[in-house]
Amino acid sequence: MRKLFIFDLDDTLMWNEYTYSLAFIEFCRYILKIFHRRAPFAGDIAQMIVEISHRKIKEIDPATSQLYGFSMHRFPDTLVDGYKMLCENGWGEYGNEYARHIHDIGMKAFDQSLYLKQGMVPGAKEVLNFLKSKGDNLVLMTKGDPRVQNKKIKALGLLNWFPEILIVDNKTKENFKLVMRRRQAAGSIYSVGNSFSSDIRPGLDAGCCAIFIPCFTWRAESIDVGRLTQSEKKRLVIVKKITDIIEIYEILSLTTRS
Ligand SMILES: [Mg+2]
Repeated sequence: MRKLFIFDLDDTLMWNEYTYSLAFIEFCRYILKIFHRRAPFAGDIAQMIVEISHRKIKEIDPATSQLYGFSMHRFPDTLVDGYKMLCENGWGEYGNEYARHIHDIGMKAFDQSLYLKQGMVPGAKEVLNFLKSKGDNLVLMTKGDPRVQNKKIKALGLLNWFPEILIVDNKTKENFKLVMRRRQAAGSIYSVGNSFSSDIRPGLDAGCCAIFIPCFTWRAESIDVGRLTQSEKKRLVIVKKITDIIEIYEILSLTTRS
């Protein structure tokens, strides 16, 4: 029977932090230039940026009067705030021109041509082609700002594999149930992703099986397999890399029961 795979995007099909890192490195170089080589250690600047970025999730974006959450402007605005803070601490003179340039640097984290150049996680294309050749149904469910996620989807040509793509605010049990209801004819349904809390927990709660490919990029996240119920353990497979899906495909239905 045909299976249904509900794939995650960030850090499952593509490495999400790469373009942010490139932009951050450019930010540090720019700071060193405009502060005439006198600046705190880059590691300390990075720590400050991480703190501002986390704080910003719950702050109001003056441009929209809504919470930043995980919206696109959070990152460039975070870099500008970092620059402002360095100036307030006596490292340099604040200038609107510099601030605007720093915002532009931040926007490079969402550069479609960089996504295109970067491509997908090694082996991801092979896995999607393999599942397609088996006649399985593929759905992409990704969390984030549609302005950003759509650029990634376009650059990576994901419509070639995914006739159905959902960009959601949050991956909830209800979102998984919605996909499952629309695909009643399918055999086993698998949520495939790198985050236990975003991809696996809500998938299991909705009654799906799950393929967990851990990649803890955002914040340390751990799972205690002992805390899973017997039924959940039966529905969960943990693999090291995406290409392992091809290796375990034949025994997938035998090892997981929904
Ligand atoms: Mg992810």
